[in-house]
Amino acid sequence: TDTTELLLSRIRDVADHPEPGVVFKDITPLLADPVAFAALTDALAEIAGRTGATKIVGLEARGFILGAPVALRAGLGFIPVRKAGKLPGATLAQSYDLEYGSAEIEVHAEDLSAADRVLVVDDVLATGGTAEASVQLIRRAGAEVVGVAVLMELGFLGGRARLEPALAGAPLEALLQI
Ligand code: IMP
Repeated sequence: TDTTELLLSRIRDVADHPEPGVVFKDITPLLADPVAFAALTDALAEIAGRTGATKIVGLEARGFILGAPVALRAGLGFIPVRKAGKLPGATLAQSYDLEYGSAEIEVHAEDLSAADRVLVVDDVLATGGTAEASVQLIRRAGAEVVGVAVLMELGFLGGRARLEPALAGAPLEALLQI
């Protein structure tokens, strides 16, 4: 569609970042274009409406940039999931494995309750580890996950296969497949 073409045209490939052999998908040209940024926000807000979400969770850091305007557009609250050690209040934490080592994310425990239906928003689904851990974290906080929505899915990294068991039938929506 026209929106797909517009979004795709505003993503820059950066070779050898953050290490040799990796092609990094850079969304800063998209953010700098208000027409493309608005189209992206509208497309993600439509998913929020369709899934019946009551809260948007954004994943640090680009999930904050995308998720906050989606939450406002959809009339929903925004909740940050952060790297461990950043949130000041009482948190729940979730660890997950990386290719080398592990990582940990956190959410404020009081930000989520059993009444919440959460849509997780991020820019890129790569291996799916971050999104999988966020789904587990949100469930442990007592809330329901109604879906994960990303701008871009890097299909060759197999993130969908890793994430889908955790999603238990909730949709993974990617606006662009790479
Ligand atoms: P995953 O846990 O391997 O799926 O990695 C996803 C996380 O890494 C997301 O929070 C993304 O923002 C980030 N990420 C991985 N690859 C890229 C990329 O090519 N461009 C931008 N972000 C990326």
